[in-house]
Amino acid sequence: MAEFNVGSVLVTGSNRGIGLGLVKQFLELPNPPEWIFATTRELDGSQSKLALKHPNLVVLQLDVTDPNSIKAAVQRVEEHVQGHGLNLLINNAGIIRFTTMENENAETMELIYLTNTVGPLLVSQEFLPLLKKAAQQSTQTGLSCSKAAIVNMSSIAGSIEVVPMWELWQTPSYRCSKAALNMITRCQSLEYKNCGILCTSIHPGWVKTRMGTEKVGVITHLQSLAILNWEEFTLNW
Ligand code: NDP
Repeated sequence: MAEFNVGSVLVTGSNRGIGLGLVKQFLELPNPPEWIFATTRELDGSQSKLALKHPNLVVLQLDVTDPNSIKAAVQRVEEHVQGHGLNLLINNAGIIRFTTMENENAETMELIYLTNTVGPLLVSQEFLPLLKKAAQQSTQTGLSCSKAAIVNMSSIAGSIEVVPMWELWQTPSYRCSKAALNMITRCQSLEYKNCGILCTSIHPGWVKTRMGTEKVGVITHLQSLAILNWEEFTLNW
């Protein structure tokens, strides 16, 4: 297997949760990327403190639902990588609303779809020239994250076959957005393979983030009502 050696990486939604965890892991690699772009909706200074300690960490404003902010982030990345392109784009930003089939509505469907599905599509489109540049300049054969890649953070909740935890949280808008994200990923992989760009979607497993803990809130409530056996839940997740 080729060595995992990423020159530059951008992670959306990395001011907290899984995104921030990924950024920290990249920083701790024995061979960290030359550039790590961590994006946040609001520049509030918390990541900037981390950036002070790590000159290879650049914090950028990026709202995946705002095309202008995506374009501005692309410009900033271009300024830093200076002709080298971007190796790895991780579309991690995402949201959930705990709706049911009874109260799901157009507003929530639109909001979640715009963020979880359209967002990764637009971000990938805008960063495509930089990803292509990285692929062209790479001496590696085949497809890899070290060369050029788009990784979309999906969820098992979007699996049409498994539909996990239906009895606990229906969340149709979230499930649909992730199922659609998987199809976007499939389309990206068909279209960008010949440019040397790997495209994949992944399920991170259950992670105790704000989103993950919101779920736990629902679970704990059900536990207290003795509707759910916690061990059974964690084994099955
Ligand atoms: P969190 O809620 O902890 O973090 C979500 C991140 O996305 C935050 O940084 C948030 O920024 C950002 N974000 C939300 N909306 C936007 C937007 N419009 N533009 C840019 N950034 C935005 O979630 P997790 O870290 O748990 O989840 C990360 C990804 O992993 C998501 O795609 C989620 O669906 C997926 N996932 C998570 C699982 C889990 O168990 N935690 C399981 C399966 C999948 P802000 O602080 O501004 O809100």
